[in-house]
Amino acid sequence: MTERIHLSKAEVTEVEEGFVLDALRSGWIAPLGPHVDAFEAEIAEQVGVRNALALSSGTAALHLALLHLGARPGTAVLCPTMTFAATANAIAYTGAEPVFVDSQASDGNVDPHLMLEAARTLRSKGVDVVAACPVDLFGRACDYDVLEPGLAELGIPLLEDAAEALGANFEGRAAGSFGAAGVLSFNGNKILTTSGGGMLLSNDDELIAHARKLSTQAREPVPWYEHTEIGYNYRLSNILAALGRGQLTRLDDMIARRREIRAQYVAALVNIDGVRFLFDDSATRTDNCWLTTLVIERDDQNADSLVAALSSKSVEARHLWKPMHLQPVYRSARAFGGSVSETLFARGVTLPSGSNLSDEAVTRVHAALEEALA
Ligand SMILES: *Cc1c(COP(=O)(O)O)cnc(C)c1O
Repeated sequence: MTERIHLSKAEVTEVEEGFVLDALRSGWIAPLGPHVDAFEAEIAEQVGVRNALALSSGTAALHLALLHLGARPGTAVLCPTMTFAATANAIAYTGAEPVFVDSQASDGNVDPHLMLEAARTLRSKGVDVVAACPVDLFGRACDYDVLEPGLAELGIPLLEDAAEALGANFEGRAAGSFGAAGVLSFNGNKILTTSGGGMLLSNDDELIAHARKLSTQAREPVPWYEHTEIGYNYRLSNILAALGRGQLTRLDDMIARRREIRAQYVAALVNIDGVRFLFDDSATRTDNCWLTTLVIERDDQNADSLVAALSSKSVEARHLWKPMHLQPVYRSARAFGGSVSETLFARGVTLPSGSNLSDEAVTRVHAALEEALA
């Protein structure tokens, strides 16, 4: 049996073991402690924001930020239709209406002009749009040169879902640092993992203080348990923060390896017609190369057939996120456009991109791709 090659497996070394062992031996076995504090400070510095709040997931970070920004029944929040369900689900938790916006064809990220047009159209119909939540898809930052000033002009807060994008950049600024607040995920499949976890990032001290309070059951600062609003149990444990700190020391190396794997895919497929990658090498943007994504632009293959062909060679590849406007659970939600994301879903495939893939594994993926696409 040939060993199955996975899409993106967590890479954990003795460095992480050392950090976790320290947390266990320190006695801080709780959702607070010195590793949580240090992890928050280190991520804030990495991304270049004033405050970071470590939470139990990226979804929790989205939820708390949306609550602070006023998402509630009777309001609407814009997000891309092409995203992981967590973005839309966090909006739904608040009772606000998620409104979906189509992708741009070049890189699958939300079409920034369509997002602004959607905001204006909803406004003109009297809809209260309390936030817009662009997603840095597969580790590539959105067009913030359009979104940031455009949303600011409309007075709509930007909440950046950078769950997939730690380490990516746009015009010299780090993913997670745009708008009113940014969100990272440290789920097991992301570029940096705490097994499960997330972070809320913001330069707004009040936003972070409110989210911090909500994340610990909204306790008031009095000696007994006093509550004036409904809170959550969303904090990250000290042990998991230690794992994240270990991972953070190796983030640059993990990104460099993913970048190398991406370059090798491009080189391997350079002579194959009718395929393109969902990124371009622009001078203004550096992806973190979390997942390298291929789009098939010819009639003899699509995402289904390529995923199946690769799977028969024990290579795991996946469809892109199925657009939210096509999901049964969001059937009745409003959407602006949708055909671009539908095409990307039908024709796009994410390729094995993990930093711990061996050269031999990468060569095997190339051979399977060449055979399928020859
Ligand atoms: C992973 C992910 C999330 C959610 O993060 P969790 O830590 O799994 O809750 C949110 N948005 C996007 C785009 C993601 O990929």
